[in-house]
Amino acid sequence: MTTPTLPAPTAGSGVEPRPGSRAARLRLPKALDALKAMAAEYGVCIRPVTLRRTDLETGLTEVIDLPCGATREDKCPSCAKRALRLRQVQIREGWHRTDEPNPGPDPATEEQKALIRLRAHLEFGRAQAELASQWDQVAEIDEAIAEVEEAIAAEGLRGRIAPPHHREDQGEEQPARRRRVRSTRRRQDVPDLPRQKVDPRTVGRVYTAPDGRTYQPSMWLTLTLDSYGPVHGVRTASNGRPIPCACGRMHAPDDPIIGTPVDPDSYDYRRAAWDAVHFPRLLDRYWQNLRRAVGWNVQYAGCVEPQKRLAPHAHFAIRGTVPRAMLERVAAATYHQVWWPHADQPVYTLDQLPAWDEQARAWVDPDTGVPLPTWDEALDELDADPDAQPAHVVRFGPQVKAKGVTAGSKDADRTIGYITKYLTKSAADCHPATTDAQREHLDRLWQQLRVTPCSARCANWLLYGIQPKGAHARLRPGACKGKVHQKATLGIGGRRVLISRDWSGKTLADHRADAKAWVRALLGITTTDQDQEQEQSAPVAWEMARPTDPDVPPLEHRLLRAISARIQQRQELQAARERAAGAGPPPNASATTPGYPIWKEAPSGTTADS
Ligand SMILES: [Zn+2]
Ligand SMILES: [Zn+2]
Ligand SMILES: [Zn+2]
Repeated sequence: MTTPTLPAPTAGSGVEPRPGSRAARLRLPKALDALKAMAAEYGVCIRPVTLRRTDLETGLTEVIDLPCGATREDKCPSCAKRALRLRQVQIREGWHRTDEPNPGPDPATEEQKALIRLRAHLEFGRAQAELASQWDQVAEIDEAIAEVEEAIAAEGLRGRIAPPHHREDQGEEQPARRRRVRSTRRRQDVPDLPRQKVDPRTVGRVYTAPDGRTYQPSMWLTLTLDSYGPVHGVRTASNGRPIPCACGRMHAPDDPIIGTPVDPDSYDYRRAAWDAVHFPRLLDRYWQNLRRAVGWNVQYAGCVEPQKRLAPHAHFAIRGTVPRAMLERVAAATYHQVWWPHADQPVYTLDQLPAWDEQARAWVDPDTGVPLPTWDEALDELDADPDAQPAHVVRFGPQVKAKGVTAGSKDADRTIGYITKYLTKSAADCHPATTDAQREHLDRLWQQLRVTPCSARCANWLLYGIQPKGAHARLRPGACKGKVHQKATLGIGGRRVLISRDWSGKTLADHRADAKAWVRALLGITTTDQDQEQEQSAPVAWEMARPTDPDVPPLEHRLLRAISARIQQRQELQAARERAAGAGPPPNASATTPGYPIWKEAPSGTTADS
């Protein structure tokens, strides 16, 4: 042995690794990570989208970074924080309005236009696939179309863009589709609630104090789902005295066992999964019922997030006041029925699945070869049965929390923070699992979500012996791409932010523009009409730039420049703020605090940042 012998470091001795050793090198923070962390600290987007702008007159090109616009912290902390602040501004501005927003029909937003363009491309692709008899592809495109249409509806466009396609690839002519009458015949039973004509008024009642001063308070509300079995928790009696948990012990508030089932075997994971998937519809129905019950157009803004037991619940700011008893009564009487074929027990398992019969173009039983009922056949059977029950009924739990809040109070701001607390996290990251009990609880819920049907087209229907709508050869039960099946969502797919139409009378883009105008006003920058005209008339072309393009600097260089620009901008803003101190807030700063967000300006005065 020629290597010098040194005493070997004993594992776990807590001794610093030898300088220059591999262990010591691994301890150093990675430079790029440190750079990204600093970018996040300064609110600089860490994964900017690069666009190339070409001036068509001079041929000069410029590479411009735009913020990625992510809403989740784990993707981009800076953009997520910005999105969160924007939502908070939106909630604040709508909450205590004393006048009607009366926005009239909005023009389509940029997001909506982008979705319509995407829908157009899919329509084009579908027609081409149909011409080429690529039925697999047609089915795939149909799925994408359904998804896009869902997104369009979620973006708040009323009605549908185009009627659905009829599939002509089934060999024989399809009977003319008749609209299913089930929705009218077997309506949601009318809950036992007052029913009034809904007045278009959206602002709350005004209260006058004996001294003549008037108050127009607002509320916040928490709606929770039902119990699926006892979970560990901190309990108190009605007199505030602590009482033991269902397991007989007293838990500390930070005990990681809190929220996990006392008896995992009897915890109803199936109902928990179905409830989570259909929770948004239940919330829609709640607002519908509440408006009818109180007779005015109640407005709300809120967020859906998981509780510690991983079931979703929702916090809402409500404009105006509704008696607490009424909020509770409506919650008790509201339910959503899912009129799908029954799916209580799987008929097949992930190891023993139905088979695709190419000749019959249908999924068949693997033993008998008999085709499974199609989606339409299953629904026909449901329609024909006068005693049919819905596949699932979602209801709220008994816990309804409601509280009055006065505009401008400390409570109001704290509540907005509370409502939006988890907005930048994916559902599963809201309460990270750190113990076996938590990990097992999460896993059992996810195993159930994996096999829960998410829509009429979900591959999981095969497990329950039914061919989903638009069935095709490539369906894989347990591997449906629907969001609710992903572990990170806990079944809360898509809509985490719920804001009613006449909330602030502004779109998110309006709020963003307000914020920019405020910063510009503070900095004394005025965009003259001339500038704008010039910008609009200059013929420019935009295209996406790839990171490998020679004119795109490395990400590190772009981040460094952006951090420097941000530091300078902050200093300018701070100086402007000091100059303006005592001069009163600028005109656009209504309902804002000194911590008002700063919006990244794209270089050379362009305003494209969406
Ligand atoms: Zn970003
Ligand atoms: Zn317990
Ligand atoms: Zn699915």
